[in-house]
Amino acid sequence: MRALVAIHSTALGPAIGGCRVYHYADEMSAVRDVTRLARAMSHKAAISRLPHGGGKAVIWAPAEISRPDFDRVALFTAFARFCDSLNGAYLTCEDSGTSTQDMDVVRSHTRHVLGTSKSQGGSGDPSPFTAFGCRRGIEAVAEALFDRKNGDLSGLRVAIQGVGSVGGYLADELHAKGARLIVSDIDANRAKSVAQRVGAEIVSIDDIFGVECDIFAPCALGGAISASTIGRLRCRAIAGAANNQLESPAMDHELLHRNIFYAPDYAINAGGLINVAQEFAGYDADKAREKASHIYETIHEIIDRSRSTQRPPGEIADSMAAEIIAAGPSSQKA
Ligand code: NAD
Repeated sequence: MRALVAIHSTALGPAIGGCRVYHYADEMSAVRDVTRLARAMSHKAAISRLPHGGGKAVIWAPAEISRPDFDRVALFTAFARFCDSLNGAYLTCEDSGTSTQDMDVVRSHTRHVLGTSKSQGGSGDPSPFTAFGCRRGIEAVAEALFDRKNGDLSGLRVAIQGVGSVGGYLADELHAKGARLIVSDIDANRAKSVAQRVGAEIVSIDDIFGVECDIFAPCALGGAISASTIGRLRCRAIAGAANNQLESPAMDHELLHRNIFYAPDYAINAGGLINVAQEFAGYDADKAREKASHIYETIHEIIDRSRSTQRPPGEIADSMAAEIIAAGPSSQKA
C-alpha cells in the first residue's frame, strides 16, 4: 500500500477529509493533489463552523486493483493502520474511488474513520444533506437578489446541470418550494425521470448554459464556469452543489464584473461534510440537518461582504475561512 495523508490544519480540531484512490503519474502529482485538497478541506470545515481542520488521503491505485481477485480488504487494512498511527489527528472518510464498504474495513482497525455503513454507526448517503444545504443557500440568494422572504422560491427559475445523486435531491427540494426547473444530464433517462417527477423542462447538456433563468445550479462535474461558458450565462446567480465549479480564480472576478453572484461551491455544498462530521460527536440526523441549515446564514454573509467591499464571493469565502481558523476553537460552536 502506497498512500499519503496530508494534514493542513488542526487549529479547530482533528483534520477531516476523504480518501481517494487514484492512478497518479508520479509522486509529485500525488503530493500536489493531496496538499491542495487538504487545504480546501480546512476552508470548507471552517466556513461551515465545524470543530475540525482539513486533511486528505490519497492511495496509489495498484495496477491490479480492478482484477476480481485483488485483495481490497488487505489494502484498506494497511491504510487503516496508517491512519491509526496518526492518533486521531486525521479522520478519514469516503471520496472518489472509495466506498462505504472500504470505510467499514478501516473501521475494524481504527476509530479514526467516518462515513461507515449505518450498521456501524455511520450517517449513510450524504447527498440528501448536500442538497438540503444547497437549497438553504439558494434561499439566501433568493432573499438577497430577488427580495424573497422566508424561503419563498415560488416561480423562481432554476437551471440544474446534472441530476444525479445531489442534483436529483436538489430538484425535489426546489420543486417542493415551488421553483420552476430546467434540467440537463448526459444520462437522458436520468434527466427524463427527474423531469417527470418535478415537472421540469429538459434541455441539452450544451443548451443548459444559455438558459434564461434566475439561478444556474451546477451539480455535475467541476469546471462548469469557464472562459468558454461564462459569456453564455443568462442568470443572476450561480448556486449549485458541484465541487470546483470555477475553471480558474479569474472566473470569480469575471462573474462579479458581469453582475452574476457566485455562491462559493465549498460553502454551499458543505451539507454532506456537516452530516458526516456529526458522526464524530455521535450521529444525530436532526442535529446534522440543523447545522446544514446554517448554510443560509453563511451565504448571506458572503453576499453582504461581497456587496459592501466589491470583492468577488470566492475571495470573500477564503478570507472568512482564514479568519475563522485564525480565531481558533473558541469561535466554533460545539
Ligand atoms: P453523481 O455522479 O451522482 O451525479 C452527477 C450527474 O451529472 C450524473 O447524473 C451525470 O450523468 C451528470 N453529468 C455529468 N457530466 C454532465 C454534463 N456535462 N452535463 C450534464 N450532466 C452531466 O454525483 P453526485 O454525488 O450527485 O455529485 C455531483 C457533484 O456534486 C460533484 O461535483 C460532487 O463532487 C459534488 N458534491 C457531491 C456531494 C454529495 O453529497 N454527493 C457533496 C459535495 C459535493
